[in-house]
Amino acid sequence: MPAAAISPDILAKYEPVIGLEVHVQLLTATKAFCGCANQFGSEPNTNICPICLGLPGALPVLNAKAVEFATLASLALNCAVNERSIFARKNYFYPDLPKGYQISQFDKPLAEHGFVDVPTADGTIKRIGITRLHMEEDAGKSIHDGLPDSSKYTSLDLNRCGTPLVEIVSDPDIRTPEEAFEYLTRLKEILLYTRVSDCNMEEGSLRCDANVSVRLRGAERFGTKVEVKNVNSFRFVREALEYEIERQIEVIESGNHVTQETRLWNAAEGRTYSMRSKEQAHDYRYFPEPDLPPLVVSAEFLESKRAELPELPEARRARMVAEYDISEKDAHTITASREFADRFEAAARTAKNPRRVANLLLSEVSGRLKALGLEQENSPVSMAGIVFAADLLDDGKLSSKQLKQILDIAFEKGEDIPAVYEREKPQQITDSSALEAMIDEVIAASPKQVEQYRAGKTTIAGFFVGQVMRASKGQANPALLNELVTKKLEG
Ligand SMILES: [Zn+2]
Repeated sequence: MPAAAISPDILAKYEPVIGLEVHVQLLTATKAFCGCANQFGSEPNTNICPICLGLPGALPVLNAKAVEFATLASLALNCAVNERSIFARKNYFYPDLPKGYQISQFDKPLAEHGFVDVPTADGTIKRIGITRLHMEEDAGKSIHDGLPDSSKYTSLDLNRCGTPLVEIVSDPDIRTPEEAFEYLTRLKEILLYTRVSDCNMEEGSLRCDANVSVRLRGAERFGTKVEVKNVNSFRFVREALEYEIERQIEVIESGNHVTQETRLWNAAEGRTYSMRSKEQAHDYRYFPEPDLPPLVVSAEFLESKRAELPELPEARRARMVAEYDISEKDAHTITASREFADRFEAAARTAKNPRRVANLLLSEVSGRLKALGLEQENSPVSMAGIVFAADLLDDGKLSSKQLKQILDIAFEKGEDIPAVYEREKPQQITDSSALEAMIDEVIAASPKQVEQYRAGKTTIAGFFVGQVMRASKGQANPALLNELVTKKLEG
């Protein structure tokens, strides 16, 4: 079955069509329709009440914060928010769903027609449409293993029942597993920037199902689609899609038809398994939730949410490249989280040269953090400390070699840069005559380089600066040294 043997020629005949459904838990303090705590990791079955258990007579009340978060997410994803949306009951039987239905939205979702822009392999930007974003509640959890009596029973934890979710459904615009990966990465980044979810995949706050089919290139109709569930990392989504695309092509090439079904991704084996065919699929018998009125989003409310939208990652990167003259790649690294970008910008704006702050942060400091296996938040060196060092470098009061030594000490002792600098006070040679004597020595010892310089290769001045810097053990004042080297060579 593994499709390793398909030739590139045959693969190239087909075009994959991919759509993604992403469930995101909202970071509200309480659940969607009751006052129970919305909290991961509590003792099982402690955050429950008659409403989220669906006991007879209990009535749901919509959580206003959940509506705010869902609206913010809709706007951040460029969706049109419907003034009026309808909650509906999605009926199915499952042990972790004591009510026998989930409150969701069906034909009148909160928001529609959005998009996410993703970069493609050829450097262009591709727009992936978002069909809809709707609100719903989560179900509980069945626990099949890990408990003393797991061999005999399945246990239920109903804490998750009623957790507010948004489901974000993409258009079938995605054509490669890589595009799917990029879409998910961008989507998560945007949701994190809006702070509506922690998007923690290990804790299930962000979950992804993929619909995938293949068709002959140029064909108009979509092929039969398969839904791949249970994929708990973006990397696995990419791998599951790669596997599934080849599997479907192999089925078609061998003269058979792809079965419409739901398959599960097994990460350990690197393959998908059939879970159920569409004949056994659910008919959810949706009908409007009689216990909740239509959700009405006023124009004022919408405007207030729009005003709350932060600058989103893509726009922020573009601005930072222009404002600080940093590279696209550096801007990406810095904006990976909103908190980190905020800290960087607050500091960089106080520096004489923000670009230098970015360089120090992403080279000297990041390199040391990486070597020690530390995260930015555990760095002994603060943003203010980096600005302090950048300004000293800029003023020529510190050579880069001296800075490296200061950073080594800072990381060794867990101290910030200003403290180390004050104590160590690196000596600088600012005496012109002393420097000139050193330069003369180097010039006398390097006739070939002097000749090159005088023949017009002025960049060789760096060689002399480097030699003197080394001879001075990094203590020569860099600005003065540069000036004197040029003067001597010209003279
Ligand atoms: Zn409850």
